[in-house]
Amino acid sequence: MATTLFHSTNGQSPPVNLREALLAGQAPDRGLYFPQQFPRLTPGEIAAFAKLPYHEIAFRVLSKFTEDIIPRTDLAAMCHSAYNFPVPLEIIHVRVFLMRLDQGPTASFKDFAAQMMARMFGKFLREDNQQVTILTATSGDTGAAVAHAFHNIPGVRVIVLFPLAEVSESQRKLMTSLTGNVRTVAIDGKFDDCQAMVKQAFADPALKHIPLSSANSINIGRLLPQSVYFFYAASRVAQAGEPVVFSIPSGNFGDMMGCVVAKQMGLPVKKIIASVNDNDAFPKFLASGNYQKISPSRNSLSNAMNVGHPSNLARLVAVYGGQMDETGKINRMPDLVAMRRDIFSTSISDERTVTGVREFWNNFQLLLEPHGSVAWQGFQDWSAAEPLGNSPAVIVETANPAKFPEEVEKVVGWAPDVPTNMLASLKLPEAFDRLGADYETFRAYLLQRHAAT
Ligand SMILES: *Cc1c(COP(=O)(O)O)cnc(C)c1O
Repeated sequence: MATTLFHSTNGQSPPVNLREALLAGQAPDRGLYFPQQFPRLTPGEIAAFAKLPYHEIAFRVLSKFTEDIIPRTDLAAMCHSAYNFPVPLEIIHVRVFLMRLDQGPTASFKDFAAQMMARMFGKFLREDNQQVTILTATSGDTGAAVAHAFHNIPGVRVIVLFPLAEVSESQRKLMTSLTGNVRTVAIDGKFDDCQAMVKQAFADPALKHIPLSSANSINIGRLLPQSVYFFYAASRVAQAGEPVVFSIPSGNFGDMMGCVVAKQMGLPVKKIIASVNDNDAFPKFLASGNYQKISPSRNSLSNAMNVGHPSNLARLVAVYGGQMDETGKINRMPDLVAMRRDIFSTSISDERTVTGVREFWNNFQLLLEPHGSVAWQGFQDWSAAEPLGNSPAVIVETANPAKFPEEVEKVVGWAPDVPTNMLASLKLPEAFDRLGADYETFRAYLLQRHAAT
């Protein structure tokens, strides 16, 4: 089978293989890398997943992209060590399940991608005898997942910027308790400021001599591992070949694009429900064909989804034959009829997010945090609009309730238990640098850190 090539959604850069796409992050023409043609799994290959553990499914899915790049035995070992935690599928009622992606080292679904990406980066850099600095802006969960995954990976230095006042205490401690090759920088500003500073650093000629890369969801290395848990869920809740409904809480649409990747590779999917908070640019676009990004992004309880212009929409639009540039301008309309057939999208208010946590606890004795609640309410909206019939459905819970103790306690009256893997981090001493939200200071910081090694 030929190696899968990744094309830029802006169409102005040459196609590259996975290794090049991963190390570059963004395409030189500012587009996002994405396969024009997906490798396919046969129905027989997918049916075989029913008897396989998670890491083996990950190997069989990802190997379709890594042919000629990562030897099979190496990839198998990488999957085995990355995915050593459970992926619970809790039954809610007949054929409706909650998939909990909160059992990784930092208790959010971002661990699934970060763990694999770090292993791939480490391997490629070792082979090329290269060094890279990964710059990441975070609203909370990405920074922790990336910092933990890349901790102690030779050849990689990590610098995480986070808005000091906008992350929860446990989110902060999961990032700031690591030492060695990981530095965290608290910015006196908003998440938007952190992201702008990182973007400016990538474009700054004065930093040309520092090899920089990114680990946020514009990187294709984030998306591919996020297709695996949809295959896994289907293998556990559906009969062979039976289409599944997935409800996915969405911000930058990386998680949801993982489901689209799985579908393009052959997984039968009945409907993808993209559930968003007050940042409703996508459901409005799906309904009207008119895309208007939201700027500045709206704050809501599900803070990891406060995204006014989801960068992965450029990839989604490409799957349906359209073209959207990095600013959100649509140069060619995607096939909206096909998009609506495959995808449902709805916006969930904070009020309904709170109600969702309460009702879910009262009805099923299972605790949701705000992001999972948005997915649950999105599923309610869809089932009111279209018949579920006898199809299996999977609601995706993306973080552990213990990451949002105040929000959860306000609703149910007690604080959630902290998982043991998180407890350890919470007890360690914290260390982080502090900077104002101006770019000049940040540039000086990067130059000084680079000179120091
Ligand atoms: C990042 C995040 C999301 C949103 O994922 P996207 O890929 O950005 O759509 C949802 N829930 C949690 C807990 C997150 O950390």
